[in-house]
Amino acid sequence: AKVAGKNCYRFYSRAMDQAVERRVQMEHELRGAWDRGELSLAYQPVFDLAEGTMVGAEALLRWRHPKHGLVAPSVFIEVAEQSGLIEVLGPRVLRAACRDAVRWNTRRSGDRPLFVSVNVSPRQLRSGDLPKVVAAILAETGLSARQLHLELTETAVIGDEVHAGNLLSRLRQTGVKVWLDDFGTGFSGLSHLRRVPVDGVKIDRSFIADILRDPDDLALTTAIIAMAHSLGITVVAEGVEKEGQYALLRERGCDLAQGYWIGHPVAVDEFLSLLD
Ligand code: C2E
Ligand code: CA
Ligand code: CA
Ligand code: CA
Repeated sequence: AKVAGKNCYRFYSRAMDQAVERRVQMEHELRGAWDRGELSLAYQPVFDLAEGTMVGAEALLRWRHPKHGLVAPSVFIEVAEQSGLIEVLGPRVLRAACRDAVRWNTRRSGDRPLFVSVNVSPRQLRSGDLPKVVAAILAETGLSARQLHLELTETAVIGDEVHAGNLLSRLRQTGVKVWLDDFGTGFSGLSHLRRVPVDGVKIDRSFIADILRDPDDLALTTAIIAMAHSLGITVVAEGVEKEGQYALLRERGCDLAQGYWIGHPVAVDEFLSLLD
């Protein structure tokens, strides 16, 4: 047993070494990826359920690796977060998304301007002075603050709520909207909303996935909608993959929705062509 244990340990240790090596390699490649043009943004439409029209889009980062093809954002964003690379990437993403949004809204002049929603990682929230960075990028790109939404995960604001609360207040004073992403997956849930000033919550897609079959998931989703509305904040449902989910969420008074049934994330040129 001892020998087996030892071999076992060696095996795992070697596997672990390999995982660490892959990570270091990925970090190295990711560092130059932006300058090599391997990173781009995809945009996923966000619909207003009552009106049945597109009101904005979420910016989602894509990495096309020359050898491995598309790398999952859940993997490389984590590497960027752990390595600190996100502190450089984050503002670039923000600037590119604001520029793109100005392009759409110029194309749509006359119609109600669309918002662009940008993900902000926990580390990015803590690095530098985000409200200042945001204000500078808005000034530089000419996007109106009202057309920028920032998506923060619950984990980004948990722990240091006083600091996070102050940051969020300052961000909202610049006129941008702040959304709590992946809502419902954290521990704090709704009680959190009393202390953290946000404009809305995005119900995590794990809740939406089963609302047509699982009465508990539907009850939870309906409760989130009701409580968010009683606090005066907006609700977005993500991961809407079926017409039935769309109809049910609309019936339950959910404000906005996004998901494959409404539209997949697409490159900016394709997104622009959706607007015509
Ligand atoms: P997220 O913010 O929760 O983004 C939504 C994810 O759900 C996206 O995955 C999107 O492609 C996917 N999705 C959209 N509709 C559906 C649907 O109907 N069904 C299913 N199953 N999935 C759907 P993606 O693009 O792989 O991104 C994964 C995560 O990576 C994002 O989750 C976000 O946390 C992170 N991420 C992506 N871009 C950025 C970025 O620019 N900055 C930061 N900090 N994080 C980002
Ligand atoms: Ca998001
Ligand atoms: Ca989400
Ligand atoms: Ca369930």
